[in-house]
Amino acid sequence: MNLTPHPSLLDALLLPTAQPLLTTTSSPHPTSNPLNLPNPPNLPNSSTPPNSSNPLSLKTLLAPYPPYIDTELRTWLFKKYCFNPDAYTNFPKSLRTTLKKSFPSALPLHLTKTIHSTKDKTKKFLFKTQDNQFIETVLIDNHSHKNTSQPPLKKPTSLPPSTSSSPPSTYTLCISSQIGCPLSCDFCATGMMKFTRNLTPAEILAQYLLPAATYNIKISHIVFMGMGEPLLNLKNVFAALTHFTAPLPNGLALSARRISISTSGILNGIEKLTTFKANIRLSISLHSALQHTRNIIMPDLKNVSLPTLKQTLIAYSRNKRAHPLLIEYIMIKNLNDDATHLTALISFLKAFPCKVNLIAYNHVPTKPYQPSPPERIRTFASALIKAHITTTQRFKKGDDIKAACGQLAILPNPPLPTAPLITAQKKHA
Ligand code: SAH
Ligand code: SF4
Repeated sequence: MNLTPHPSLLDALLLPTAQPLLTTTSSPHPTSNPLNLPNPPNLPNSSTPPNSSNPLSLKTLLAPYPPYIDTELRTWLFKKYCFNPDAYTNFPKSLRTTLKKSFPSALPLHLTKTIHSTKDKTKKFLFKTQDNQFIETVLIDNHSHKNTSQPPLKKPTSLPPSTSSSPPSTYTLCISSQIGCPLSCDFCATGMMKFTRNLTPAEILAQYLLPAATYNIKISHIVFMGMGEPLLNLKNVFAALTHFTAPLPNGLALSARRISISTSGILNGIEKLTTFKANIRLSISLHSALQHTRNIIMPDLKNVSLPTLKQTLIAYSRNKRAHPLLIEYIMIKNLNDDATHLTALISFLKAFPCKVNLIAYNHVPTKPYQPSPPERIRTFASALIKAHITTTQRFKKGDDIKAACGQLAILPNPPLPTAPLITAQKKHA
């Protein structure tokens, strides 16, 4: 790993104050490897950035200045989205010079590429970390429709102002929590990547700050549905959540109810989430309520039994009543979309309050799976609704630029040839 000697200004700013908002006496530093997965070469368990040599350096540097300087610095970063200390004109010149010298980068990520969807307004960002690795983040325009055709923007620019006839756009940002993923769900492109490390709180926040600044927009919704399993990077995700939801200027003042975390079912992470003060939303990637099918498509979660997952979700729902759980169910042709799977799903979901999101499988190169036909998805939706379970179908956005759910990955090119279709029955044979 090619380390640079300097942490970014944001890394240095977040470190001394990143106190996750926990309500109980449980450890704020849960293990980030609860499944006992083999540790990759460098799996940092702390929020320390890979290149941080002295976490207190910013505090020391600001010590000679009046206390309001710390607040002003946060205002420049979190409110004005300004990342160049030269522009901090309310700071003494000596401080601006020192900041630039001590922190050559204000943020720990560099935006290297933006890909624009031609069928909706989705944008995919490729960010480079300071240790020369890459992550992807997706910006979704909530008002764009499935078949909206939008010409790509020529260069980063402010998005057009809204007119009185159309409501102002709202945006959802799909952010990554890890570089790669330690799990390897068989349907997911990220799972094909080598897992490198957890992202730091500053790297998680920078995924928000850079698009917000580039397009001069307020991003209202965040989903942790990019690369990685957020509950296997719990400490840094908690620290990032704290900063996302803290009032200005300490944080970005986002509404907790507009932040969702998606997990494949990391039990101790789900339990720890009940200790997080703010009421963020939790999504569970279930994908099958039959153990043998789940074991096929999510082999690294074999030791998370469905009855135990159900008990954990029942307990979570009792403790966190603010929002019902969202259950994600990818519909894969001839694999989890028959009557047996439907009956098992309804029975599983009857145990706790929840909503279901049916997701037609998004194509991943080299994978043998296909999406269920629309009529099969409709059959599932009608039966779930008949069973009094609120059901929605997720709009596919950005699939033309591989920005839809499960398509994010930095993989070697060109992809390998697609393998023949596998069904649950065939895999079992
Ligand atoms: N690791 C977390 C969050 C990232 S994945 C999790 O698994 O929940 C975000 C969502 O995309 C999950 O619901 C995941 O199951 C889904 N997903 C993965 N691959 C997909 C694919 N090929 N098609 C549709 N959804 C997919
Ligand atoms: Fe990781 Fe989620 Fe993809 Fe599974 S679905 S490999 S947990 S990112």
